[in-house]
Amino acid sequence: MAEEKRQEILLLKLGEVVLKGLNRNVFEDKLVANVGRHVRPFGRFQVYTKQSTIYVEPRSPECDLDGAYRACLQVFGAVAVARALPCEKTVEAISQTARTYLAGAFARAGSFKVESRRADKQFPMTSIQLSQAVGGDLAEAFPNVRVDVHHPDLTVYVEIRERAAYVHMPPAEGAGGLPVGCGGRAVSLLSGGIDSPVSSWMMARRGVWLEMVHFASPPYTSQQALDKVLELAKLLVPWCGQLVVHVIPFTQIQEEIRRSCPEEYFTLIMRRFMMRLADAVARKAGAGALVTGESLGQVASQTMLSLAVTGEVTALPVLRPLIGMDKAEIVRLSRRIGTYETSILPYEDCCTVFTPRHPNTRPVPEAVRAAESALDVQALTDAALAGRRRYRIKSDGSIS
Ligand code: ATP
Ligand code: MG
Repeated sequence: MAEEKRQEILLLKLGEVVLKGLNRNVFEDKLVANVGRHVRPFGRFQVYTKQSTIYVEPRSPECDLDGAYRACLQVFGAVAVARALPCEKTVEAISQTARTYLAGAFARAGSFKVESRRADKQFPMTSIQLSQAVGGDLAEAFPNVRVDVHHPDLTVYVEIRERAAYVHMPPAEGAGGLPVGCGGRAVSLLSGGIDSPVSSWMMARRGVWLEMVHFASPPYTSQQALDKVLELAKLLVPWCGQLVVHVIPFTQIQEEIRRSCPEEYFTLIMRRFMMRLADAVARKAGAGALVTGESLGQVASQTMLSLAVTGEVTALPVLRPLIGMDKAEIVRLSRRIGTYETSILPYEDCCTVFTPRHPNTRPVPEAVRAAESALDVQALTDAALAGRRRYRIKSDGSIS
């Protein structure tokens, strides 16, 4: 029992502002379920919610709390993640625990305060009395760190609960956003580039449950290029939860476009096919939107007129979270989420084969439709969909 009490726990803070606009219970239940899935590979944990906080408590001494902590930093819907250490419910034990557990934080701080919370109303002191007593002890123990109740560098949180008292470490910034599953389903077009992993991440962060679609054009694109895309999806799984990647053969469509359409429209017509195929996958999956990594003006196919011509073949909303971002910002984000190093591996994408020398940046929809009418659109999309392969990437990274 005493052994069990000494194990650190994790606390996740919910995004308060966001709670107002959503059904709080739905939000909390989703988040608890998602946290449970994220920490499962690291041992047996109990996950529950109380007063806008999610508690993650190890249920056996073998639990890997460092791993669980890192996993919790990737759970959308939590704005902060902290570790906390339980101790006996006495001022002496709490002060002693804070002294050793927070020694590193005190070494970095110029000022501090203690904030106490009493869930156990039987505890003989008020929160204010407890804060003062512990604060006094800590001021004595760390004479170089002054007390500042208004703008402290370090806030020491003490919590009195039924079974124990808890001293909190300073929290780390959480992933923010909304719990995956709160925002509906979408199909994300995932290439091997820098942008689409970031756009996928951004929509997952808004609570969207994603399925991925990737277009491959062997032999123009290699097995390595496909492996790279699966690797990118794998890197997104700790954020998004398990992912299905639909790989759709795109060679025949590209060859037909090259054979029958004017070169200036190659890319645009190809992108219209991508949208149609993603639309078909979305309808099968019950998804309500498509997601792309397009950013206004980044390339010829991402001018406003090009985006209109591309988007007109689907009735689903096309979410383009990067639309107003600079490349440098996208790169920064891709480094932060951990996809950048894989994205820059130099394998070709189907978009980079058969690229026109002079792409049309001001396409007229009627002209594109006319150019496209040389193709049997239905037969080509049906054939591509029939060749679709499905990869499921599980939470532990295994692919089936
Ligand atoms: P990225 O860095 O994501 O590859 P990009 O700037 O290279 O983007 P494009 O190649 O024009 O832009 O592609 C724009 C978007 O179209 C991508 O962000 C992605 O959503 C989608 N896309 C492009 N190629 C593919 C592909 N092979 N499979 C699936 N989606 C793709
Ligand atoms: Mg690309």
